[in-house]
Amino acid sequence: MIPFNRPAVTGREALYVSEAINSRQICGDGRFTFLCQKWLSEQTGCPHVLLTPSCTHALEMCAVLMELKEGDEVILPSYTFSSTANAFALRGAQLVFVDICPETMNMDPEAVEAAINEKTKAIIAVHYAGVSCDMSRLMGLADRYKLFVIEDAAQGVMSTYMGKSLGTIGHLGCYSFHETKNVTSGEGGALLINDPTLLERAEIIREKGTNRKRFLNGSVDKYSWVDIGSSFLPSELNAAFLYAQLEGIERIHQKRMNLWKHYYRGLLTLKEKGILELPTIPELCEHNAHMFYIKVKDEEERKTMIAFLKQRGIAAAFHYNPLHSALAGRQFGRFHGEDRFTTKESERLLRLPLYFDLNSSDVQFIVEHIHDFYGIKSKAEMHIV
Ligand SMILES: *Cc1c(COP(=O)(O)O)cnc(C)c1O
Repeated sequence: MIPFNRPAVTGREALYVSEAINSRQICGDGRFTFLCQKWLSEQTGCPHVLLTPSCTHALEMCAVLMELKEGDEVILPSYTFSSTANAFALRGAQLVFVDICPETMNMDPEAVEAAINEKTKAIIAVHYAGVSCDMSRLMGLADRYKLFVIEDAAQGVMSTYMGKSLGTIGHLGCYSFHETKNVTSGEGGALLINDPTLLERAEIIREKGTNRKRFLNGSVDKYSWVDIGSSFLPSELNAAFLYAQLEGIERIHQKRMNLWKHYYRGLLTLKEKGILELPTIPELCEHNAHMFYIKVKDEEERKTMIAFLKQRGIAAAFHYNPLHSALAGRQFGRFHGEDRFTTKESERLLRLPLYFDLNSSDVQFIVEHIHDFYGIKSKAEMHIV
């Protein structure tokens, strides 16, 4: 069976975890946490990166940092993971879901602008499949209407927009190192603070609302409870595992990119025949091969294809059910404008296996079975990169 996902292991994970154990300092903010933060900071160009236990936690920190109150509104795509919405619902904000562009499955800036009113506080930009939203337009709107932009770049580590790392363009950016992402610590995340005025408060919120960080720096002589907060630090064991992954990220990235291109070339004739659709990478975006998806005719065809591939030992997966149709989505939010694409496109999107341990021959096998499904012979010759 070819599973849908398998987390990468690059070799030094166990070594670093045992180093952390032997150091007898396994709570948060130890050596490996600082190494990861430094690495992420150098890689992305964001001077202030804080590791968190998950992307969900990083998003929750954003909601606290923005000082959201009951009745404030945030605009987000309906086509996203529950965490994107939850973080803001937890602070009492009203969720305003908008439609997506079908080419990228990212929020449509026109729909965002139409949803802005005097209660709007923030735009939550989700970079689906590690492909950037139209950040020029979203940042333009934020400037004009004085809004925060939070990037949910959970899937976007190593991706760029106009040469800038995803997560570094809005006021705040959030990464995920969950097992399903390109690099992982099982559970893990990071908050990128691009607006330096938010840094001091971010450090307090992350340390249970205390100014412990300033105490450790020596800038206050005792620490106390100064603000609301929570425990937003991962353990050193997770940070040690993550650091090994970050050191191996180039290998992971190259492998995934090659597999992604192999899928794309292998399925191109089906696209050209109008049988299915392939992902679009807009010109200003460099992606990270987080995901390879196809779009088939409709939900019915997707269901048949999932069963067909499963019988042949291939696990393919659909993705988000739109949040505005979910129980909690209806309770905490509303859809603004017309749902032209969200529901229709989400019903026909199918994700194919893509992970570090997958081989070109596996991709070729999957490509051939997709051709089989449509009763079409695949090109015998493949240009493998
Ligand atoms: C994975 C993911 C999250 C949640 O990440 P965790 O680290 O598991 O909390 C949030 N948003 C998006 C878009 C994701 O893909």
